[in-house]
Order: sequence, then structure tokens, then C-alpha cells
Amino acid sequence: MTAKIISGRDIAQRIIEKELNPRVQKLKQKGITPKLVVIFVGDHSASASYIKQKEKFSALAGVVSEVRRFPESLSEEALLGEIAKINADKSIHGVIVQLPLPAHINMKKVIESIAPTKDVDGFGEANNKDLDVRESSLPPCTPKGIMTMLEKSKIPISGTRVVVMGRSHIVGRPVAEMLLYKGALLKVLHSQTPPDEAARALKEAQVLIVAVGKPELIHGEQLSKGVIVIDVGIHKREDGSMCGDVHFDSVSKVASLMSPVPGGVGPMTVVSLIENTVKAAEQKL
Ligand code: NAP
Repeated sequence: MTAKIISGRDIAQRIIEKELNPRVQKLKQKGITPKLVVIFVGDHSASASYIKQKEKFSALAGVVSEVRRFPESLSEEALLGEIAKINADKSIHGVIVQLPLPAHINMKKVIESIAPTKDVDGFGEANNKDLDVRESSLPPCTPKGIMTMLEKSKIPISGTRVVVMGRSHIVGRPVAEMLLYKGALLKVLHSQTPPDEAARALKEAQVLIVAVGKPELIHGEQLSKGVIVIDVGIHKREDGSMCGDVHFDSVSKVASLMSPVPGGVGPMTVVSLIENTVKAAEQKL
């Protein structure tokens, strides 16, 4: 068996063309151009490349994006002041603070200072309640991107044995909650899961979502034939190439469908950010 690839890149492109472009067009006819501001503190190199992708997707969707760059030495007070100005600016519909922030800045305090209606990353507490994708106002982008990827690939979730590896606040926990809403028979594995329990759950999984942050941790022999695998991890190898949390070559021999790295969950995350920005602008109508 060789897995069929779920291309997040292609799904994202179709969402931009078929869904976001018409929605942005409608907004523009009413005199509103959705605008996203990205706050970038310091010069973290991975952040710089993520920001480029966000600018590219915004432009394709017809959303204006502005990157506001600040030195590493920026004080927490000055950053909170900048966010307060953005919260009050009616021409801006969404704002994100690119993470990681320098160690002297309290990330949680900064995230919670963003108005929930403009928190298009969906990281704030207000947007992390009742994570039903249909209802949550601005759902967190990576979990939303994963759910959209499953939905557009017509992967049934209700009554399916789904395993999520990882329980972080930005990926594992919220995607698990979204999957439960959809009726998944859910198991969440984390660092405290006994190895024999984890091994059994992996073998029984019909759908596996891996967000552990460990390069190529999951191998094909741990899984059952026909499993559907979504790889959330992103890692840069020493030679500059990319890999995920899943060992692609061995897993692609047993899986029926799997998402690649790069070109899988990454573009789905970015398109979800742009979707949230458009939604935030629509809510101002
Ligand atoms: P994180 O905050 O480091 O969380 C990792 C989670 O994995 C933790 O809950 C941890 O359990 C669990 N874990 C660690 N080792 C494990 C093991 N052997 N078995 C089972 N669970 C294990 O990471 P994250 O922020 O969720 O990110 C995960 C990966 O996704 C990273 O590679 C990150 O770069 C990537 N990512 C990609 C995107 C995208 O857009 N594609 C977005 C966000 C993140 P404990 O809680 O018990 O410690």
C-alpha cells in the first residue's frame, strides 16, 4: 500500500479561490477591506518565514496584511500599548503576535490583551470555549485547519476511533475537543501515557493526529494498515530539509491517506488564520 497524499496546499488554495475570494469581494462591495496586522518582536528566523507565508496567503485572498516589526528589546508595556491602539483601530480586523516572544515578555498577558473579536490566531481564552468549529467565534488556527482538512477530504469522524498524540494548548487539546464535538471515539496520548497503552491505541487508531514536536517519532510498524495520518509536526533537519513528527517513508507504506510535511497542516493553519480575519471583518457588518 502507498498512501494517498492529503495536500493541505491544494485544499488551502481551493478555499482561497472558491470561498475566501467571493467573501472578500462582498465585503469590498460594502466598503470593507479585511486587514490583518502581524506583530513581530525580535528576529527569530523561523518566525520570519511563517510571516512571509501569512503575507502571501493574505494577498491571494485579497486581505491587506501589515507586519509591524519591533526590536528584541521592546518592553512588555510598549507591546501592550501597541495592542491597545490596534484594538481601538476600526480599520484593523485581526491582529496576531508572532510567537515566540522574548523571555522578558509575558506571553499570556499579551495574548489576553488582544480584543477577542480581533484575536484571529484564536489563542485567547474567550476563543477557546466551546470549540465546536461551527460555533466558536474565532477558533484556534491549527486545530481548525486540521478539522477542515479532514472535512474537505471527506474523512468520517463520527463513530471513528481517532487518536490524538499531544495535549498542548495550541494543538492537541483544542483539536481533541473539536473531534469530540464531531462524535469521534477519542483517545488522547501524552508524555504520561504508559508505553503499552500508547502502543495499543496506535494499533487501534483509524485516524491518527500527531502533534508531539519530536521528529519522525511515529513509524509505520506501530500502525495498522489503512490508517489515516495527519502530521502536525514541523522540523528542520541539519541539511535544511523539513520533516514532521511522522516517519514519512515507513508510514506511507501502511496508511491509506496521510498529510505531508511540508505542504500539509502548515498551509491549512495559515488559510484558517486568513479565514478568521475575513470572519472578523464580516462580524463588523
Ligand atoms: P508542545 O507544546 O511541545 O506539546 C507536545 C505534546 O506532545 C505535549 O502534550 C506532550 O505531552 C506530548 N508528547 C511528547 N512526547 C510524547 C510521546 N512520546 N508520546 C505522546 N505524547 C507526547 O508542541 P505543540 O505546540 O503542540 O506542537 C507540536 C508539533 O506541531 C511541533 O513540531 C510544532 O512545531 C508543530 N506545529 C505545527 C503547526 C503547523 O501549523 N503545522 C502549528 C503548531 C505546531 P505532555 O503534555 O505530557 O508533556
